[in-house]
Amino acid sequence: MDRQQVVLHMNPGMGDNSYAHNSIIQNKVMRETKAIVEESIMRLYTIVPIHCFKVADLGCSSGPNALQLVSNVIDIVDTTTSNLNLEPPVFQFLLNDLFGNDFNSIFKSLPQFLESLEEKKGHKLGPCFINATPGTFYKRLFPNGSLHFVHSSFSLHWLSQAPKDLGNKENIHLTRTSSPAMHKAYGEQFQKDFKLFLKLRSQELVPGGGMVLTLIGRDKTREIRTSWSLLGTTLNDMVSENLIEEIKVESFDLPLYDPTIEEAKEVIEDEGSFTLQRLEAVIMGWDANINEGVDDNNKLDLNMRAHFITKQHRAALEPLLKAQFGENVMDKLFLRFKTKVVQLFMEVEILEFPTIVMSLIKNV
Ligand code: SAH
Repeated sequence: MDRQQVVLHMNPGMGDNSYAHNSIIQNKVMRETKAIVEESIMRLYTIVPIHCFKVADLGCSSGPNALQLVSNVIDIVDTTTSNLNLEPPVFQFLLNDLFGNDFNSIFKSLPQFLESLEEKKGHKLGPCFINATPGTFYKRLFPNGSLHFVHSSFSLHWLSQAPKDLGNKENIHLTRTSSPAMHKAYGEQFQKDFKLFLKLRSQELVPGGGMVLTLIGRDKTREIRTSWSLLGTTLNDMVSENLIEEIKVESFDLPLYDPTIEEAKEVIEDEGSFTLQRLEAVIMGWDANINEGVDDNNKLDLNMRAHFITKQHRAALEPLLKAQFGENVMDKLFLRFKTKVVQLFMEVEILEFPTIVMSLIKNV
């Protein structure tokens, strides 16, 4: 089996560096896109008769975000069925992630989650089945025509693999100075993966079914300033300090790609199974705009903001980096990464990235 399918996962458990405790940015994205999920589900209810509402969340990870979609969908359907004077449906939620994902943490949190749902919704909540489906979303996961709604948040920028034979020795990802060939190779890998993803999901959705996807994007009018390239320079510094072997950095490329809106649109149109209902960018601060709405006295200083950003990155990237560079250099790596984030903040002040949100309808 492809090594990435086994190695890639977010930091498990409930510890200080876990994804469960360091995924506020992703949670904010899900809250901000709830209205788009609502629009898609309300449309579905007007066209497809639904007795058992089948929803898949692809790349659910672990921690509170893994069940955030379940809460959102139950809220939305509750309001929709009440407004339309319909019986509440039976729910089946299918939570997917790669094999190494900490599904056990999700299972352990289920009794409390279901109890609080019952308290909140009481008799209005129909039976709610929550299942796990481990596997890569770059393969078929569900039977033909079996899903009404597919959701995936903050996962599709993960490629099935980094492009092969890049000859990319100094960097671990695209940077300002990367060659056109390297841009092309990453771009083509994204096109191939995203097209396959759309084809597979179109087989699994009912005709007219809905899909809402969010992923980290890129604004082509701005220069490439990603945390991925910052991580590359941190690793290179550690090579100079003899803390990491050069060959390990040379042979490593991050399997991530941040497409532009135009690139995503082109693939959707080319693949042809879906109609685009919405495609937009939500601009997010690297620190999830953590100081927004906070008065000046209580604002976090640069150091604390960089600490926050570093922990979010560590929770998401550590398993992959650990597998390549070894556990013993992780503390040193993220300490240096944090210093680089502080430096960058001092140079540019505002660090933000676009999150691409799209709502799609499977063609009938
Ligand atoms: N949706 C969650 C998690 C986002 S983190 C949230 O918004 O917080 C991205 C998740 O995608 C990780 O858990 C990672 O393991 C998963 N992932 C990456 N590639 C995947 C693939 N090919 N198939 C399934 N899951 C994948």
